[in-house]
Amino acid sequence: MSVPPSSEASAARPGDSTVIASDAVQVVVDDTAESTLAQRIELFFYRHRDKLVWIHATFFVGFLALILGPLFFPDPEGLATPFDDFVLFAKYVLWGVWFPLTLLSVIVSGRSWCGLMCPMGAASEWANKRGFQRPIPRWMRWEGTPIVSFLLVTILGQTLGVRDHPEAMAEIFGGTMAAAILVGLIWGHNKRAWCRHLCPIGLLLGVFSRLGAVQFTPKRKKLGGDRYTTHGICPTMIDVVHKEESRHCIECFRCVKPDSPGALKVRLRVPGEEVAQIRNHHPILSEVWFFFLGIGIAMGGFLWLVLPFYQDLRHRVGTWFIENGWYWIGEAGPWWLMSVHPERREVFNWLDFMMICGFMIGVMALLTAVLAATTLFGAWIAGRFGGAGTLVRRFTELAYQYMPVALISLVIGLGGELFSLLEVFGLGSGAISGIKAGLFGLSLLWSLYLGDQILKGQGVTGYGRPLAAAPGLLGSLVVALGWWPALFGL
Ligand code: SF4
Ligand code: SF4
Repeated sequence: MSVPPSSEASAARPGDSTVIASDAVQVVVDDTAESTLAQRIELFFYRHRDKLVWIHATFFVGFLALILGPLFFPDPEGLATPFDDFVLFAKYVLWGVWFPLTLLSVIVSGRSWCGLMCPMGAASEWANKRGFQRPIPRWMRWEGTPIVSFLLVTILGQTLGVRDHPEAMAEIFGGTMAAAILVGLIWGHNKRAWCRHLCPIGLLLGVFSRLGAVQFTPKRKKLGGDRYTTHGICPTMIDVVHKEESRHCIECFRCVKPDSPGALKVRLRVPGEEVAQIRNHHPILSEVWFFFLGIGIAMGGFLWLVLPFYQDLRHRVGTWFIENGWYWIGEAGPWWLMSVHPERREVFNWLDFMMICGFMIGVMALLTAVLAATTLFGAWIAGRFGGAGTLVRRFTELAYQYMPVALISLVIGLGGELFSLLEVFGLGSGAISGIKAGLFGLSLLWSLYLGDQILKGQGVTGYGRPLAAAPGLLGSLVVALGWWPALFGL
């Protein structure tokens, strides 16, 4: 459900020197110091955009080497390190460098990974130019499609043991690459239907790019809110003159023309600005559900590995099945659905499969309920103190307060190898825990600040603001509690 743009859509924003608004068009004249740097960036990529193909091709070859190469090497010896073993090297590059750093990079440069480097999106578009170019079907355009795609890939990654087994890594990443090419081959007309509608990584980066310091904004913006179009220049179907949100912009620089008054321009902004002013940037309920569910599923994927409670539960459920004569529960399933690696002494059976899926979904549902309840309570309080809009609208806007906490949770939880790499530089486990806790603490403060700014934008006054922000603090603390084992161990 989309929240309609607010009447403040034509209001000036920090960094805009002059805003001239008529009924239908807003002209933004920006001559601030940051704009000089932005213009240089813009000019550089405008001039060299045609060379991006070489970067995409290089990353394509490198990516294939990382996901398929380990299949041809023996398992690492006991004392092997990423510096002398290719299997470990590939694992650390993907999970310790690429995943967490790409996620963190959105704060600095938005979805620059997508537009400038990603080989999957480029391959999908390349296939699209040579493919059937069928119209994009309605089921694909449903806002829930990438959410389902993200949840399925995350759960499958856990049941396959994607961090530990090269075969699983090849299946998940190779499968994603094949799907991107296939979708490009069939649907869209010179577009990236995969990137806009299906890619689980793109969804993640897109949501958090709202926190980013880079924005592509129309020089002459048409008012009326964000629109979807399959006819324009934008490969992700943004109607560029109406563009208000960063979510779907992959930063391909195609709409940027420094001399054209009708083009888009690069604008640098304070990280978090779009979230603080979310009511002017197309807040949407499906996105909120995504990051609530996303934090939950990531936490579930981490906790089943470390909590003794999970092992107890597994034992009890397994005993119940055996006592009732359901012996098939102890049989191993197919290799493409779960980890079956007797040579590495890891074979999941149907009990493991069901328990991992059930546990992850249970944690996801629980955390989503907590975050939704705290947000709803905060939105209700905001309404009591003059907050504008309906309860659903205030709920949708206020939910964005959790974005910094959600981002750092994913980096700490799913990108844990980044921190274990620090051991190579001599840092002990105490120092590493301190860094993680420091990062989480900063994200919590940032979330609190954004919550306060969102409430301010809603017109909440006086002590109503800290009161309405308090449930958000509670929600963030629950997230912190869930990640406690990742931050400090058990
Ligand atoms: S949306 Fe996905 S496939 Fe497309 S460029 Fe981004 S990460 Fe790559
Ligand atoms: S808005 Fe412009 S930079 Fe962003 S994806 Fe569309 S064409 Fe590329």
